[in-house]
Amino acid sequence: MVTRKSRRELDRMREAGRIVGESLALADRVVAPGVTTKDIEREMVALIRRGGGEPCFLGYRGFPACICASVNEEVVHGIPDDRRLREGDIVGIDVGVRYKGYIADAARTFAVGRVEDRAQRLMDVCRESLEIALAAVGPDVRLSEIASRIQAHIEGAGYGVVRDYSGHGVGRQMHEDPQVPNYVDEHFRRNDMALKPGHVIAIEPMANEGTHLTSRVRKGNWDVVVTRDGKLSAHFEHTVAVLDEGSEVLTQKPGGGD
Ligand code: MG
Repeated sequence: MVTRKSRRELDRMREAGRIVGESLALADRVVAPGVTTKDIEREMVALIRRGGGEPCFLGYRGFPACICASVNEEVVHGIPDDRRLREGDIVGIDVGVRYKGYIADAARTFAVGRVEDRAQRLMDVCRESLEIALAAVGPDVRLSEIASRIQAHIEGAGYGVVRDYSGHGVGRQMHEDPQVPNYVDEHFRRNDMALKPGHVIAIEPMANEGTHLTSRVRKGNWDVVVTRDGKLSAHFEHTVAVLDEGSEVLTQKPGGGD
């Protein structure tokens, strides 16, 4: 069931989103060669709690940390650890925050120091695909329209658009209906729906340098998602609310931008 949020609910999600945006802006400042993904997590969690929020990934389906940190060929669901980031790595940071019972969810992929042009281009194309999708969100827009724009941009650049994982509705739960895929097939077309005011979705394209296919790697009691061919992957995500007219991105960093 797809729920429509009230103005009061949207106010809480906006505050959750503000904290998410600030925590990712902090991550942008912290990411550097020599830093560990646990260091990034520690600083983000401190900021989230100071803001009155609670990181909501911890314990979700058994996830053992407060953020996801996915390095290079890791697509999503990476676990922060003590390995030091190296110059030229790319790292996707995904974070969800609950504020007064309501959640916002966002992700960005960061360059560690100077990265190769091919890595930068992959990140640029993925971020652009999210921007293109967000620009399309509004009342009566169909989810397949959003997905096809993402797919066209990523595949048009010669990359694989990940099919095994998708965006989602968000609210009291981190993953609510509807599913928000990043590509279109016949099954999706049959189950398509139009957005309405009060719907809130997390749009999260994942772009692979090579094949769109993914694999899972077991780490402890958790599966990390990696590219099947070992090539790079980028991930960007925002939580966006549909308004009476247009839409509002709830997870922007302070001062706007991505
Ligand atoms: Mg998400």
